[in-house]
Amino acid sequence: MANKPNWRAIKIHRSYTVDEASRALGVCKPTVRRWLKSGKLPVIDSQRPALILGSELIAFLNVRRKPKQRLRIDQCLCFSCKVPRSAAGRMAELVHASVSTFNVCMLCEACER
Ligand SMILES: [Zn+2]
Repeated sequence: MANKPNWRAIKIHRSYTVDEASRALGVCKPTVRRWLKSGKLPVIDSQRPALILGSELIAFLNVRRKPKQRLRIDQCLCFSCKVPRSAAGRMAELVHASVSTFNVCMLCEACER
């Protein structure tokens, strides 16, 4: 199953059962049922099977989506802290990855990893 649900597979004017929504998004059925149980993802009515409007599903997934992290020119994404950090001592090392590419290696200013 996917880490991030692919909301682009959802059509706004279609309604989805839990099974259809889980298959379209690439998530487990219990995940969709948990979203419904939380009350944050509304169903069309109280009848069975529970139907979810595509536009409501897209709006729900957009609210859940994390905002993109923008890095300044002097920052890297620390793999330990999982946030943008500057280099410790303001130093970075360029390591040849291939003939035309480099990798930037630096120590995180916060965790020093
Ligand atoms: Zn760090």
